[in-house]
Amino acid sequence: MLKEKPLLVSLDLDETLYYRADSLDQVPYREPNKVLPGSLAPYLYLRPHADDLLRGLANHPLRHFGFFTASCGEGTDAAVEFLSELAGHPPLFYFDRSRVTFRCADSFGPYNYGPSREQVKDLKKVKRTTGFSLDDILAIDDKPVYPRQYGNALYVEEYVPGDTNDDRDNTLLRLHRLLTEYRHIDSVRHHFANKPRYFSSWETPQCSLPT
Ligand SMILES: [Mg+2]
Repeated sequence: MLKEKPLLVSLDLDETLYYRADSLDQVPYREPNKVLPGSLAPYLYLRPHADDLLRGLANHPLRHFGFFTASCGEGTDAAVEFLSELAGHPPLFYFDRSRVTFRCADSFGPYNYGPSREQVKDLKKVKRTTGFSLDDILAIDDKPVYPRQYGNALYVEEYVPGDTNDDRDNTLLRLHRLLTEYRHIDSVRHHFANKPRYFSSWETPQCSLPT
């Protein structure tokens, strides 16, 4: 029988695990989960079930997690510290904006008057730092920032509190369930090749839900 292998999950931060606001007026009905000193957007609102996902990964014997964000600065460092406390475990790696590649987008829309900058996160950098094979790295993000390793990424709907949908957002709970049930014996690219890879809070669940 094939043995299950360790899996490294590379998590995006902003609009995937949390939302950061520059003013309390932006989310008037809810207290922030954390206030980050030294940041232009200090009020951090966790996405529902972000703690379940992080603890689930931290407590699973064959799961590891790291953070790959296009953000940077003191506030982001403090947010990573907060998430590590929630998980009860530090991340295996933490890459900020300095590890993101920015390239000129090669298409022009009808109302664009110039080229735009496109973010690219390259999992080969994660591979080099952690020693994990690309077969064993899964990335979660709310933006299509993995064109170089499309097969390694699952995408979630952007999280912005204040949506009427907020309380019902079970995106991360479903992702947590999927990763708990997933038996990693081959390659994430093969496993997810013909499966839905977009998680929306409005769509039919792609894995079993708790009752
Ligand atoms: Mg994001």
